[in-house]
Amino acid sequence: MIEVTVKSKKTGKVKRGSYSARELLQSNEEDIIDDMTKCDCQPVGETYVVECNCCEEWEEYDLEIKEGAE
Ligand SMILES: [Zn+2]
Repeated sequence: MIEVTVKSKKTGKVKRGSYSARELLQSNEEDIIDDMTKCDCQPVGETYVVECNCCEEWEEYDLEIKEGAE
C-alpha cells in the first residue's frame, strides 16, 4: 500500500490514507484529496446538498506520498 498524507495549509490539519498503486493510478489527485478530506456533515432539510465549508480548509494543501510495506 501507498501511504498518502495531506496537510491543510490553512489549518495545519493532517489526514492520512492508504491506497494501492492501482487505486492511485486510476484516480486523479483531486479524487484522492476529495476522498481523504470528505466530512461527515449531514445534508440540510430534504435536499441532498451538504452545506458546509469544510472543503475550504483543503483548498490549499501539501501532499505527501510514501510507499509503505507491501
Ligand atoms: Zn462539512
